[in-house]
Amino acid sequence: MLSRRHFLRSALAGMCLVRKPARKRIVHAVTGPLPVVDMGLTLIHEHMLVDFVGAEKATPGRWNRADVVVKMLPYLRELKRLGCQTLLDCTPAFLGKDPLLLRELSEKSGVRILTNTGYYGAADNKFLPPHAFTETADQLADRWVADFTNGIDGTGIRPGFIKISVNPGTLSDLHRKLVTAAARTHKRTGLTICSHTGPYVPAFEQIEVLKQEGVRPDAFVWTHAQGNNMVHYARAVREGTWVSMDGLDNTNVSTYAETLLLMKENRFLHRTLLSHDAGWYDPAKPNGGTIDRDYAVLFKRLMPDLNKRGFTRKDWRQIMVDNPADAFGV
Ligand SMILES: [Zn+2]
Repeated sequence: MLSRRHFLRSALAGMCLVRKPARKRIVHAVTGPLPVVDMGLTLIHEHMLVDFVGAEKATPGRWNRADVVVKMLPYLRELKRLGCQTLLDCTPAFLGKDPLLLRELSEKSGVRILTNTGYYGAADNKFLPPHAFTETADQLADRWVADFTNGIDGTGIRPGFIKISVNPGTLSDLHRKLVTAAARTHKRTGLTICSHTGPYVPAFEQIEVLKQEGVRPDAFVWTHAQGNNMVHYARAVREGTWVSMDGLDNTNVSTYAETLLLMKENRFLHRTLLSHDAGWYDPAKPNGGTIDRDYAVLFKRLMPDLNKRGFTRKDWRQIMVDNPADAFGV
C-alpha cells in the first residue's frame, strides 16, 4: 500500500505531467500568441528558406529579405486560398532561420507561421554551432528557454516549438544531449519537440530519453516517420507520440494514401500529422533557385484521392486541425 506521503508525491508528479485541455492552450506564432482553437487547418512541417552553407556561415546577411518575400509570397497566398491558415516553418537556427522574414511573409499572406528554437544535429553535426559541442544539456536548454522568454536574437519573436534533429542510427552522446536539452526546455516552456528523425530506432531511443527526463511522449513529434512499418506506428501511438508523415510530394501520393488508409483502419488518426516538407528559397542559388517541392499536393491530389476512398470531413479535421492544435498548444 502507498503511504500517504508517497501517494501525495505521486499524485502531484502526475499533475505536473497532465497537460492543459487543448482548448485552453495557446501557440506562439511569429505575429504573436493565439488560442489553439484559432489555428485552423495547419501544415506542421514546411520551409520558406533553407541555407545549407553550414553553421559558420549561415547568417541572414546571405539573403535579401525583399527578394525572398517576392519569391515566396505567391506560394503562401495560394496555400491561404486553398484553406491553410497556419504553417510551421521547420528551418532551424544555423540553417537559415529568419524570424523577421517569416513575420513579414505571415503579415503579407495572412497565413500564420510558427518558428522554432533548438539545434539540428543530423548531417553529422554540420549545422551545429561550436558551443553545441562543449556546453551541457542545461546550458543549451538555458539558451533555448531564453529564446522563448525574450524572443529570438533580439527580434522579440518567440518560438512556437522546439526543433532538433539526430542522425538515423542509434543516438550518439552528442545527439542524446540535444534530446535531453530539448526535454528540459519542454519542461520549462511547454513547447513541443519536433525531432528530424526518420527511422524508428532513434525515434524510440529519443522517447526513452524523454521518459527518463519525466517528459510525456505526447510532447514529442516523430518527424519524417514515413517509410517505417505499421508495427512501429502502432508502438508510437501506444506511447502517445505524434507520428509525422511529412514528406508528401507529387511522386508519393499513392503511398501516402495507402498509409493513411491503414492508419485510419487501425484507429491511429488521432496521433497522425501530415505535411509536405516543401520549399524552399535557397540562398546559394541565383534568385533562390527553383521551388521544386510542392506546398499544395495535399489539397490538389491527396485530399481528392482519399475522399473517394472513404476519408471523411471528420478524418481531415482530426489530422489537419485538431491534431496540430493538440500537439503544439502550450
Ligand atoms: Zn524539413
